[in-house]
Amino acid sequence: MTIPFLDLKAQYKSIKGEVKEAVEQIFETCAFVGGKEVEAFEKNFADYCNVSYCVGVGNGTDALWLTLKAMDIGPGDEVIVPANTFIATAEAISAVGAQPVFVDHDKDTYTINTGEISARISEKTKAIIAVHLYGQPADMDPILEIAAKHGIKVIEDAAQAHGAEYKGRRIGSIGDAACFSFYPGKNLGAYGDGGAVVTNDQKLADQVRLLSQHGSKVKYSHEIAGYNSRLDGIQAAILNVKMKYIEQWTEARRKNASLYRELLKDTNLILPIEKEDVKHVYHLFVVRVKDRDTVQRLLLERGIQTGIHYPTPIHLTEAYKGLGISAGTFPISEEYASDLLSLPMFAELTKKQIKEICKALKDIVN
Ligand SMILES: *Cc1c(COP(=O)(O)O)cnc(C)c1O
Repeated sequence: MTIPFLDLKAQYKSIKGEVKEAVEQIFETCAFVGGKEVEAFEKNFADYCNVSYCVGVGNGTDALWLTLKAMDIGPGDEVIVPANTFIATAEAISAVGAQPVFVDHDKDTYTINTGEISARISEKTKAIIAVHLYGQPADMDPILEIAAKHGIKVIEDAAQAHGAEYKGRRIGSIGDAACFSFYPGKNLGAYGDGGAVVTNDQKLADQVRLLSQHGSKVKYSHEIAGYNSRLDGIQAAILNVKMKYIEQWTEARRKNASLYRELLKDTNLILPIEKEDVKHVYHLFVVRVKDRDTVQRLLLERGIQTGIHYPTPIHLTEAYKGLGISAGTFPISEEYASDLLSLPMFAELTKKQIKEICKALKDIVN
């Protein structure tokens, strides 16, 4: 029996009728770009994040760089970002012409090491991007404190953390703005690309919207030279269907994580921690294991697919080699990159599948 890393088909099966109906409705009304479903989703998702504004955009990467652009961050500016994240976080900074300044991650939570941020702040620093990596909220209080002290912005990269909570606050409502991705494999996934910026700052929301639709509020009245990055009607309609289930799916992910934890507790695997004051939404269930590549191969031989998030810290990728940051600069990220292993994780994963995965893992590592 094959156990996939992610089974999008299982989820589709459970909502097929509703999705088809929603999409059919878009075909009938031809509201392909903008329209009622997009408006409804923006309202829906803003409420979900406990913020006043949501602007749907083309994808999560656009959400990030449009936010930076709307904050007037560009050439000559620096933005703090963790070294262990998906490359999009850094790419967004590069896209506006600013410089990413990396920080290592915390050895237990895998999110940005807040103790190392202050030392990386300079005259040029304009913002900190906190990534809620794997669904685990970054430690926002110290980040907000540092940002306030230096008068800089805080952006949450919440692409992996729909519905997560930090000290009772919804992820997305804590920084100056938060950026979400609705890439199909994310906790809330569209059937194509999609993204959103959420914020309580009306001016910022207006500016992101202006930038994302050719600099115009009124058709053909262009206030600035903008871009084109919008959420499709079809994607919004599907996301509106999925919003009905997101809480239920998050709970299923959390249950799966508990079962993994219970079944793997007597092994030498290092399991993810969940701090008492946060709600982790387990976009990924990442363990650390020695000889990871062999373990991954042996699991695959038994039909169990896994992932690696991420094999190379950003500063050591070919893309960012030009920054000249040598190996050894961010020891935690670099050490962990060869040990990280993401086990199958999705709402529809069954108890039986988790038991099989854990049994195989135990056989292999013991
Ligand atoms: C997926 C992801 C993004 C980018 O989202 P896209 O919709 O794929 O552009 C950004 N940051 C993180 C942490 C992500 O996981």
